[in-house]
Amino acid sequence: MPKGAIIVGAGPVGLMLAGELRLAGLDVVVYDKLPAPTGESRGLGFTGRTAEVLDQRGLLTRLGELRWGKQGHFGGVRIDFGKLSENHFGVMGLAQSRTEEVLGEWAAGLGAAIRRGCEVTGFTEADDHVVVDFEGPDGPGQDTARYLVGCDGARSTVRRLAGIDFPGLAATRGMYLADVVGADLRMRPIGEGVPGGGMVLSVPLEPGVDRIVIHEPGIRPGHGVGDLTFTEVADAWQRMTGESIHHASARWMAALTNATGQATEYRSGRVLLVGDAAHDHAPLGAQGLSVGLQDAVNLGWKLAATVNGWAPEGLLDSYHSERHPVGRQLIRNTLAQSLIYLSGEEMEPLREVMRELVTIPDAARLLAGQVSGLDVRYDVEGGGHPLLGLRLDPALELTGPNGARSRVATMLHPARGVLIRTGALADGAEPAGLAEGWSGRVDVFTGTWAPTGNTETEGLPEAVLLRPDGHVVWAAPEGGKLRDALERWFGAPA
Ligand SMILES: Cc1cc2nc3c(=O)[nH]c(=O)nc-3n(C[C@H](O)[C@H](O)[C@H](O)COP(=O)(O)OP(=O)(O)OC[C@H]3O[C@@H](n4cnc5c(N)ncnc54)[C@H](O)[C@@H]3O)c2cc1C
Repeated sequence: MPKGAIIVGAGPVGLMLAGELRLAGLDVVVYDKLPAPTGESRGLGFTGRTAEVLDQRGLLTRLGELRWGKQGHFGGVRIDFGKLSENHFGVMGLAQSRTEEVLGEWAAGLGAAIRRGCEVTGFTEADDHVVVDFEGPDGPGQDTARYLVGCDGARSTVRRLAGIDFPGLAATRGMYLADVVGADLRMRPIGEGVPGGGMVLSVPLEPGVDRIVIHEPGIRPGHGVGDLTFTEVADAWQRMTGESIHHASARWMAALTNATGQATEYRSGRVLLVGDAAHDHAPLGAQGLSVGLQDAVNLGWKLAATVNGWAPEGLLDSYHSERHPVGRQLIRNTLAQSLIYLSGEEMEPLREVMRELVTIPDAARLLAGQVSGLDVRYDVEGGGHPLLGLRLDPALELTGPNGARSRVATMLHPARGVLIRTGALADGAEPAGLAEGWSGRVDVFTGTWAPTGNTETEGLPEAVLLRPDGHVVWAAPEGGKLRDALERWFGAPA
């Protein structure tokens, strides 16, 4: 009996996907070529929408005390998130290694098998399964699953073996990044331009440790990849800021470029690509990890529904049609940001214009939404309600018939569909009847919207149907027949 899915890569995205698939009961194994997690700090925190997505699975509280960023930016142009009506706040200063640790514990706790020290080297696709070859600590081996998912990073082996193209722009800029111990630097949290071009950034990671990023116009793209020395980093920092950090040391360093790439197909037969394997860009604007986690949450329930046999026609393919445009937007906005961020004085007039633009709430909201991920709207058809395709704010609360309040985020913890009903349904379908037809796929909640400190209840739908990723696929009034939406997204009733 083949497994439901084999995931290649126990990075944050592979671990998130493993948890999602386990919530739907799939037999899942994750292979990673490294014998242990790298412990690299890499992505520091995540965007507003990704924080919500983690909240929707009960994972935010597991991460411990979080630092929320109320100041956003677009290419270094400040956007005061606190002045916008929606909550775009992201989490700052949280090392990716900690996020991975929590995701790994969660996925393993749900029963995902994580096999480290096993490098996937090949696969053969058959009509109804995939056979995967790997090199493990005990030599070569094979494993079989219904689907193979490449979460194996920007230089994805799965993508190469599947013959999926990855077109993009060649690197034109080089950057250095280091976690510096004992330098005691002034904070430059969204980066500072340097006369003559370039940018320096410094944010505290923990007491005595600062993350620095240096873009110096003279850094040749690709220089230092794999063999960067702290002296090179410290010399560049001194040239750019006049400050010496030579007395300090680096806990971790990396040389980066602004090269981009995006898989032309996120799905090819029984093979899927997620996270950096599907899209790669300069890690400016801190969105790569976040978009990858959202890819995983978009794919998880669709893949599980397919393996579990109830997926409606086209559901699995909607992973590509929904997430490929998001990846394209990610690459576009990070390219735009790096132009504004990293260019010299010749960019100053445009920066001035941008500073004026972001004082207009709609313009600020547009840019904030691109960075935070709150603007993602899928084409879900099904009526004219303004919320269709957007995420429902998971901080909203419902007061149930017994007076108990429940958050939308909590309703989504099991990764099933959610039907919330606060008024009479237009087509007369009663929750009890619905629960019968789609029980196990959609949970039904009734009550009234409860006012909370941060969210408005005015204008909220009388009833709303959410997918397991929290996006609205039907809302009343104006939503058309609920039954049609249920069949479209959750298959024929049992
Ligand atoms: C220096 C740096 C700084 C960054 N800063 C930020 C930031 O501030 N914010 C942000 O959002 N993002 C940032 N990123 C990007 C972020 O780290 C990535 O987007 C994120 O790690 C992608 O996760 P992933 O799971 O898709 O891939 P990865 O984290 O790359 O994980 C891929 C996994 O696949 C495994 N693997 C690869 N090939 C095989 C194989 N053949 N067989 C088995 N296993 C395999 C690897 O060992 C690895 O564990 C940064 C990245 C770098 C390098």
